[in-house]
Amino acid sequence: MNVSSSYIKKCILELEELTEKDRPYTRLVFSKEFKEARNWLANQFKNLDLDIKIDNAGNLIGIYKSFNKSSKKVLIGSHLDTVPFGGRFDGIAGVVSSLAIVKNFREKNIELPFDIELYDYLGEELNDWGMSCIGTRGMAGFLDEEFLNRKDSLGRVLKDEINKIGGKYQSLGKKFDLFEDVIACFELHIEQGIRLQNGKVEIGIVKSMPNISRHKISVFGQASHSGTTLMHDRKDASLPAADLVIFINKLAKEYSKKDNRHFVATVGKLDISPNSATIIPSLAELLIDLRVVNKGSRDDFLKNLKNEVKRLSNFYDQKIIFKDIVFSPYVEMSSYVNELLESSAKKQNFSFMFMDSGAGHDTAHLSKVSPASMIFIPCKDGLSHCPEEHAEIQDIKKGSEVIQQSILSIKSKMI
Ligand SMILES: [Zn+2]
Repeated sequence: MNVSSSYIKKCILELEELTEKDRPYTRLVFSKEFKEARNWLANQFKNLDLDIKIDNAGNLIGIYKSFNKSSKKVLIGSHLDTVPFGGRFDGIAGVVSSLAIVKNFREKNIELPFDIELYDYLGEELNDWGMSCIGTRGMAGFLDEEFLNRKDSLGRVLKDEINKIGGKYQSLGKKFDLFEDVIACFELHIEQGIRLQNGKVEIGIVKSMPNISRHKISVFGQASHSGTTLMHDRKDASLPAADLVIFINKLAKEYSKKDNRHFVATVGKLDISPNSATIIPSLAELLIDLRVVNKGSRDDFLKNLKNEVKRLSNFYDQKIIFKDIVFSPYVEMSSYVNELLESSAKKQNFSFMFMDSGAGHDTAHLSKVSPASMIFIPCKDGLSHCPEEHAEIQDIKKGSEVIQQSILSIKSKMI
């Protein structure tokens, strides 16, 4: 049963217009453009004759009702928000694919013994409140007081924004009751990597999401005049920092090779102070982002890194402080949902592979409270979180058909 590629294309083209005009493609959660995109989605829901609601966590939902008033549900969807200067497919592909599936069901009068709930999960991207996946964290009961009371740089309190968009923060804090009735959750997403493209594989079935952790290293030096302080009299904070950047990269390559599972480490933020051409740096701060499947390797890596910190501190005779910032644990995707996806891909003769996700996604939170998994489709040259981000409409269509067939398989097993 084909889903409509022209409908997918039309939706992508309409959504790409809803961006901050001077910095495409930017649609930050709670912004004017985000609300426009939500209105657009609500209109699509109306056209497909879906019931529309916003849940307590501020997720926008269109419901394709079961024929028999069943309370059982299958959840599909992704997110409409983007990062600043983001792309036209991250999140959007999953929302549009879900619309195309439901449109097909509606047009072909497919009767299902469960509701399909089609979600725009609220605010998946990391935002100014310093958190990602607002909507799915809320659903799973992980939005506590500390999160809800966070303020962004404009002083807006997160819980107020959730309520303004139609949610009810007062009712958050525990897992939603609906999970008692959820049979499966599916999400289609662009891969944001190049494994599918390089392997000429059409569908990636996600096995797991990695342990994600962030760590901060502060290296201390002594500020002094860059013209008058002789080389051997210096305490330059940038030197141990530079050594650490190289050490982290080398060590991560070793673990990545040894593990043969996802293992990446990045020093994406490196600040030196006072950051002036005429002053020897007195402080260098590195922020390390670590995404790893194998926790043992992660712990081992960190032990090695801490030893190197000690060694460099002695060698340069400078103070270096290592601090863990955040840990979010590894999650396995549901094997039940992955079996559905696998047999669906086989049935339709699509090539597929199982893979670990490098990024976190809404499905990571859903999978902690329900049977959930996701599929990846190829994305051009692996580029994502940038305006060049691109996925072929045909690939979104194929992915949609894999999820559609999985939903129909659930139906045939129930009737
Ligand atoms: Zn995304």
